[in-house]
Amino acid sequence: MEKVVIIGSGPAGLTAALYTARADLQPVVISGNQLGGQVSITSEVENYPGFPQGTTGPELVELMQKQAEKFGARLIVDEVTQVDFRSGPPFRITAYAGNYETQAVIVATGASPRRLGVPGEDRLIGRGVSFCATCDGFFFRGKELVVVGGGDSAAEEGLFLTRFANSVRVLHRRDELRAGETLKKRAFANQKMSFLWDTAVEEIVGEDRVQSVRIRNLKTGAQEELPTDGVFIYIGHDPNTDLFRGQLDLDSLGYLRTDARMTTSVPGVFAAGEVQDPVYRQVASSVGQGCQAGMMAERWLAERE
Ligand code: NAP
Repeated sequence: MEKVVIIGSGPAGLTAALYTARADLQPVVISGNQLGGQVSITSEVENYPGFPQGTTGPELVELMQKQAEKFGARLIVDEVTQVDFRSGPPFRITAYAGNYETQAVIVATGASPRRLGVPGEDRLIGRGVSFCATCDGFFFRGKELVVVGGGDSAAEEGLFLTRFANSVRVLHRRDELRAGETLKKRAFANQKMSFLWDTAVEEIVGEDRVQSVRIRNLKTGAQEELPTDGVFIYIGHDPNTDLFRGQLDLDSLGYLRTDARMTTSVPGVFAAGEVQDPVYRQVASSVGQGCQAGMMAERWLAERE
C-alpha cells in the first residue's frame, strides 16, 4: 500500500513528488509516456526563475527529478492504463508493468497541444515548429512567422510574437476568427499581423530548420509555398484526461475540475498542472500547482490518520 501515487512526471508531478517526499510519504511517480512532460521537448527555457542564463527542458527535468529522488521519491518509467477511484481509498491504479494501491493520488498528466498531422511537423519541432510563443518567441527576433489557428490562443500568441518578429501571418482554415472580439480587434489593428483565410497547411518544409509551409486555399484549391522562419501552431490543447472519464468530474473543455485545495471531485485525489489548468500553462505555474497539490495531499492524509 502506497501513501501517494503521482501520475505524470512533468513539472507539476515532480514538484508534487518533491513536497510529498519531504513530508516523508515516499511517493511513487509513474512517468507516463514522456518522462518530464511537455517541457522535456522544449529546447530552451528562459522564463523559469532561478536560471538567469536559461536552461534546457531536459536539464530542468533532470534536476527536478534528482531533487525529488534525493528525498525519497521513486520514479517508475511506466504508463497508467486504468484507474479505479470510485471505491477508494485505497485507490487502484493499473500500469503496464505493475499495479498500485494508494491512499492518495495526485494527477499531473498534463495536456498535449493538438498537432496538424502534416509532413515535417514532428521532425521540425524545436527547429522552427513550436507550440509555445512564450517559450520560443524570443528566438525569432526580426524573423517572419506563421501562426496556425483562429482561436483566442492564435490571436493572443500571434500578438505576443509581434514583439519579436517582423511579421506574423495567421493561417486559418475558415474566413473568420473564432477568437473573441477584443483579441480580434487588437489582432486586426496590429500592423505586423496579417491573415490568410480558408487556408490549410499541408506540409512544413525544411531540412534542419523551417524554411516554408506548403498551403492550400480550401475554397479555390490553389496551392502555394510560403517562405517562413517559424510555424507556431495553436489549434487547441487537449488535457490528458481520457483515463479519468467517468471517475472524476471534467469541465466542458475536458479539464479536471479542482477546488482551491487542488482536490478533484473525489476526496483524496488531487490534480495539478495543465490537466486542470486551461489558462496559464507555464512551467512556473505548474510547479506552483504541484507544490499546492503535494501540500494538500499531505494534509489530507494527516487529517485521516
Ligand atoms: P480553440 O478555441 O479550440 O481554437 C482552436 C482554433 O484552431 C480554431 O480556430 C479552429 O478552427 C482551429 N483548428 C482546430 N483544429 C484544427 C486543425 N486540425 N487544423 C487547422 N485548424 C484547426 O483553442 P484555443 O484558441 O487554444 O483556446 C482554448 C480555450 O482557451 C478557449 O475557450 C479560449 O477562449 C480560451 N483562451 C482564452 C484566451 C483569452 O481570453 N485571452 C486566450 C487563450 C485561450 P475553427 O475556428 O474553424 O474551429
